[in-house]
Amino acid sequence: MRSLAIMGGTFDPIHYGHLVAAEQARHSFQCEKVLFVPAKSPPHKDNSRISPVEHRLAMTRLAVDTNRYFEVSTLEIERPGPSYAIDTVKEVKKIYNPEKLYFITGADAVLEIISWKNVEELLSACYFVAATRPGYDISNLRQKLNVLPAEYLKKIIPTYIPALAISSTDIRKRVRAGESIKYLLPEPVERYIKNHRLYL
Ligand code: NAP
Repeated sequence: MRSLAIMGGTFDPIHYGHLVAAEQARHSFQCEKVLFVPAKSPPHKDNSRISPVEHRLAMTRLAVDTNRYFEVSTLEIERPGPSYAIDTVKEVKKIYNPEKLYFITGADAVLEIISWKNVEELLSACYFVAATRPGYDISNLRQKLNVLPAEYLKKIIPTYIPALAISSTDIRKRVRAGESIKYLLPEPVERYIKNHRLYL
C-alpha cells in the first residue's frame, strides 16, 4: 500500500467534523484507506467520564458505512492497557506496510504530543495531520512544538477543517439539554444515541 491514514480519536460521539477531516486528508494525501481507530483508554483522560467503548465503536461503524475508503479498526480495543499512538502505528505498519503513514487527529491533542510515549519514534514513523476548528490559532501549535527538532516538526501538518465547528462536547451538551443534534452527525448515529439513551 502506498499511502494510509489512521484516524485516531475518542469519537464520543463521532460527527460530521471527523468525517470531513478524514475525507479531506484522504484526498489531500491520496490515501488508499482511512482506518478509524476508536481509542479504548485515552492515556490522558479520566476514562470513567467516557462512554463505554462498545457504544463508541458501534457509532463509528455506523458513521463510516457509506464511504468505501473508510474502515474501522479495533486494534486499540483489543490491546490491553492505555491506547498509546506509538503502539497503534507500529501494529498498523506491520499489517499494511504503507510507504507513507498519516495519523489524523485534533490539533489540541497534537499540542500535547511532546508528552506522548516515544514521541521521536512516533514522528519518525508517520506524519501527523493536526485538524483545527474555525478560530483556532495555529501559531499556538507551532510555538509550543518548537522544542522539537526541525526534522520532527516538519512531520506535523496543521489542517484547517471548517466542519470541525461541530464538536463532540457540544453534541453531548445538546443531548443533555434536550436540544436537536440533527445535521451534526449521520442519522444512524443520531438514532443510536437516542435508542441507547446516551449523554442524558
Ligand atoms: P481529545 O483530547 O478528546 O480531543 C482534542 C481535540 O481534538 C478535541 O477538540 C476533539 O474534538 C478533536 N479531535 C479528536 N480526535 C479528532 C479527529 N480524529 N479528527 C479531528 N478532530 C479530532 O483527543 P482524544 O480523542 O482523546 O485523542 C486523539 C488521539 O490521540 C487518539 O487517537 C488518542 O489515542 C491519541 N493520543 C495518544 C496519546 C499517547 O500516545 N500518549 C496521548 C493522547 C492522545 P471532538 O471532541 O469533537 O472529537
